[in-house]
Amino acid sequence: MKRGQTGIKRGSLSREAMDERLREQKAAYTRKYQRQYRDLIHQLLGHKCVRCGFSDDRALQIDHVYGGGTKETRSMSVGAYRKKVIASVALGEGLYQLLCANCNWIKRAEKNEQANKKWA
Ligand SMILES: [Zn+2]
Repeated sequence: MKRGQTGIKRGSLSREAMDERLREQKAAYTRKYQRQYRDLIHQLLGHKCVRCGFSDDRALQIDHVYGGGTKETRSMSVGAYRKKVIASVALGEGLYQLLCANCNWIKRAEKNEQANKKWA
């Protein structure tokens, strides 16, 4: 049996093709909004690494000033996390900062040397 022959057709598209197209549109929509949240957070946090001043967006990461970031990000969706960060930054809580990937790894090594020894 050929694919699409038994599917519900809308126009020239099979049900599977429609579903696929909808999934793609939804993903593109989500990516667009996630990107906007990310850009907004970077803008609010000054667009550069607080340690070294590195400013290439592609390697800047949101860092928890007081740690605990991994646990927090694992407990919620990326979107929910970013909304939480935006709310916190807007309130001036001082809980988040931007670090470049290098400084973020260095900070992790400084805070938790034992756990990072296996990577050395
Ligand atoms: Zn840096």
